[in-house]
Amino acid sequence: MNPIGPPGAHHLRICRAYVARRTSVAPWWQDRHVPIERPSRASAAPSSAEQDGQLGLFAAPRRLFSCTPSRLGTYEDCPRRYRFVYVDRPSPRKGPPWAHNSLGSSVHNALKSWYALSGPERTPAALPRLLRATWVSEGYRDEAQEQQAFNRALGWLETYVDGLDPAADPVGVERVVAARTELLALSGRVDRIDQAGDELVIIDYKTGRSELTSDDARGSRALALYAYAAERVFRRRCRRVELHHLPTGTVATHEHTEESLARHVRRAEQTAQDAMDAEQAVAAGADPDEAFPATPGPICSWCDFRRSCPAGAAAPEREPWAAVERQSLAAP
Ligand code: SF4
Repeated sequence: MNPIGPPGAHHLRICRAYVARRTSVAPWWQDRHVPIERPSRASAAPSSAEQDGQLGLFAAPRRLFSCTPSRLGTYEDCPRRYRFVYVDRPSPRKGPPWAHNSLGSSVHNALKSWYALSGPERTPAALPRLLRATWVSEGYRDEAQEQQAFNRALGWLETYVDGLDPAADPVGVERVVAARTELLALSGRVDRIDQAGDELVIIDYKTGRSELTSDDARGSRALALYAYAAERVFRRRCRRVELHHLPTGTVATHEHTEESLARHVRRAEQTAQDAMDAEQAVAAGADPDEAFPATPGPICSWCDFRRSCPAGAAAPEREPWAAVERQSLAAP
């Protein structure tokens, strides 16, 4: 990790010790060619605390906003939902688990298990056992629907691993990456990080109904933040991001630039600032419903808190298996 931004407490202690050691010879900032203004005889010499403040060297470090891309995405989708998930305690009661989330987790976990095998064991034949071991049963209408989903997921996985090199070990599988900016302490779990030449590639598995495009890869805040963090964790360039859509076997890619990653980071910081401002407003006595406005829309039908949220009540209720059923009807 290559943190940037204000120094942490440890860094601060080191700086203070370093200054204390060096002041009898020369102020340490001379090393950085910063001109020193010597106090005139008429003016009193500033205290060391004043000096620190003037130079901005030892100002209290700004409190960073700890977040994942998912947390930021929740605020961007609906500030009210963000409040339900991250602020209100106890959190309002959630609806029942979604079958499509169970299906997605099962597929992700099976791929993680597949990469945990040794190279020669990484065959399509290993997949039924791995998928059974990681299968999540929640949310399905009945056993028949669940069995159908299992068969479909197994088919996706067999096709997918058939196109992989079993001898190639990724740089990371379900790897947590983290980085700091001036405002954010970012972290997130990446499905897979591959090596391509001297560079890293961020890979995100998708199991939803719709095929994805390069615009989806370009616009994904999560992928961009993962690339930003991975570059700092591994100290290797990481600009390429890929969405691997297992149901269609397609890959949507985007090659970021330093500027496009910086743009995503800036937007993430803006979102974080908005969320922090709202949290502070509530702590100072503001109405939570005003500080975290609801943004109702089609998303409400899929929101875990729809039953606890009057603003989302107008959206049609979906059965927990609705997305899986739609996917099975659309399957060839
Ligand atoms: S139901 Fe809709 S408006 Fe209410 S929290 Fe969920 S997404 Fe927001």
